[in-house]
Amino acid sequence: MDRSNLYRRFRTLLIANRGEIACRVIRTARAMGLRTVAVYSEADRGAMHVSMADEAVLLGPARARDSYLNVERLIEAARRTGAEAVHPGYGFLSENADFARACLDAELVFVGPTAEMMTAMGSKSGSKALMEKAGVPLVPGYHGEAQDEATLSGAAERIGFPVLVKASAGGGGRGMRIVRSAAELSPAIVSAKREAKAAFGDDRLLIEKYVDNPRHIEVQVIGDSHGNLLSLFERECTLQRRHQKVIEEAPSPTLNAAQREKVCAAARKAAGAVNYVGAGTIEFVSDGKDVFFIEMNTRLQVEHPVTELITGIDLVEWQLRVAFGEGLPLSQDQIRLNGHAIEARVYAENPNKNFMPSVGRIKTWRLPAAVSGLRIDAGYREGDAVSPYYDAMLAKMIAWAPTREAAIERLNRGLEEADVRGVVTNIPFLSALLTHDKVRANTIDTGLIERELANLARPPAAPSDFELCAAVAAIVAEERAAVCTEARSPWQTFGWMPVGRRQRVFAFRVGHGPEQKVTLTYGNGPSTLSTGEREFAFEVSPGENGRFDLTLDGVKSQVAAVIDGHELYLRTRNGRFDLHWVDPFGGETEEQTGEDKIVAPLPGTVVAILAQEGTVLDKGAAILTLEVMKMEQTLRAPFAGTLRAIRCKVGDIVQEGAELAEVEPQGD
Ligand code: ADP
Ligand code: ADP
Ligand code: MG
Repeated sequence: MDRSNLYRRFRTLLIANRGEIACRVIRTARAMGLRTVAVYSEADRGAMHVSMADEAVLLGPARARDSYLNVERLIEAARRTGAEAVHPGYGFLSENADFARACLDAELVFVGPTAEMMTAMGSKSGSKALMEKAGVPLVPGYHGEAQDEATLSGAAERIGFPVLVKASAGGGGRGMRIVRSAAELSPAIVSAKREAKAAFGDDRLLIEKYVDNPRHIEVQVIGDSHGNLLSLFERECTLQRRHQKVIEEAPSPTLNAAQREKVCAAARKAAGAVNYVGAGTIEFVSDGKDVFFIEMNTRLQVEHPVTELITGIDLVEWQLRVAFGEGLPLSQDQIRLNGHAIEARVYAENPNKNFMPSVGRIKTWRLPAAVSGLRIDAGYREGDAVSPYYDAMLAKMIAWAPTREAAIERLNRGLEEADVRGVVTNIPFLSALLTHDKVRANTIDTGLIERELANLARPPAAPSDFELCAAVAAIVAEERAAVCTEARSPWQTFGWMPVGRRQRVFAFRVGHGPEQKVTLTYGNGPSTLSTGEREFAFEVSPGENGRFDLTLDGVKSQVAAVIDGHELYLRTRNGRFDLHWVDPFGGETEEQTGEDKIVAPLPGTVVAILAQEGTVLDKGAAILTLEVMKMEQTLRAPFAGTLRAIRCKVGDIVQEGAELAEVEPQGD
């Protein structure tokens, strides 16, 4: 086959991926004037990347094998939309040489290296053999063809324990086992093989010396089809959990200028060994003194934005230019390192439950505005579903600043200002990790997260008086927003009635904890909030995007709130809180037991009487309906008994606390 035009100019790009990276690639492709084609599975019909692209093609069922990993359907999607090139993103088929070859056979430009380069570097074993020849320092180990157990265990003995058993085709930290003694080896080999076979369809293993408490340092490289190859500095990705990166930064705060040049030169040598074309990453582990090659990723990496922020280069743009057949726009000595960048991966997962993925619909998605050094690469929006089929990474938040300290502060502030509800996220965990003393001081290794887990995945804090007041403020602000949408509402001024002093009691609970009460006093004169021990002068003014200003005793603070039925989420100066608003309408049976008088929990209008005096009612039977703030609330029998009296009629306007009905408990 003629390879002379492997890379050539194109106008339509198909992105063979989903989520954050598909959106990221579409953004740059569009800015370069390209037409973009998204692909999606049945589970992703409403996904963000689908709506961003100019065109989108359904690949098939949710299972990746039937959709994002299905080479035939991807090629067919390109044919149907007239796409001339394919960007594989990361994960999925991004390092699959057969896919690169299939693209070529279909006369599509593959945005990445050639299938041959991928084959040479894509397997960890193959690439190590190659690097050995090229004189790149390696972690000592076995990366031969023979896979019988005797060979593998002999190699492990020679290398010396602890060793790391790795899937040669591995990625994403899968198919990897630390083995500390000879006795653990055989079961580790069996299970690593099984995992590798299932995840990558290839069960070949290699064995490496396990470097204790290492750092992960990697170098971004990019080559063009004219023989130019550049290194774009290094990233440090030492903060990992289960061999998966969590926080990444550039440059590495561990290296000095001489060490930086040394590792970058080693990376250029590594990529140069295959005359590499496209964006790639050379990964090393470091024992604190030296760096050792572990693998090459022949694709764009999740953490590429930190490199973009310190170099000012758009790596996707450069990937596309290389794919057009252009030369790289800069030479090595024109690449400058500026400031510091740090990235956190936002996942739908629960750090308090062993990082179990959290699936469901994103009900609230409020991320801070991406301004002044803060960048957000998201793949999801409010209302999107997080399905169990794919990686649960929702977004990446990346901060740049002149110094590492300032970049950490900026990113932390960004994380602290994010409110995501509906699925559980690791955002509070990321914030705790980023501000951990050892992270600030850069005294870290790849085991830090595991060791410090108890301090990082904290259970939620208990609300103080401030949060209780903020909870009332959130409810009042929401109710007020509801009435104020009605023109000429008589309730536009704060409070229910313009005359007299009135009180309203709110009760909240955290989990199964005790009820905590706050009394709001309003009407003529200033409003106050009382928690029993303290009384505060109180004002609330609604803001935007679920935020409002709460003024307590003259100090104004910004509070973010999400009210979902009776569940309140609050973010205050003290952190994040989840409170349950104990149903003032008595929907919760335990709150009602023993109360034989049915009282109006709020001022309102009686709109329906649903039971007759003298009748016998089951527990929970409807008695009457009250309309409050245009919401109907049905008051129910708190226990089984006889409806002794109804003390109101339809149309009555009743005050909070007014006795509306009385139920007599059933005698034995
Ligand atoms: P690695 O961990 O392999 O060194 P990266 O940090 O770039 O490299 O992570 C790539 C990993 O991201 C994949 O192995 C996979 O677990 C995950 N992934 C793959 N596809 C997606 C996607 N579309 N969205 C989010 N994460 C993905
Ligand atoms: P993957 O393809 O899953 O990214 P890697 O070979 O890059 O696999 O390893 C993933 C992570 O595991 C590394 O970032 C590093 O933290 C750790 N690791 C890999 N090899 C070694 C080793 N020999 N000693 C100690 N840690 C290692
Ligand atoms: Mg890796």
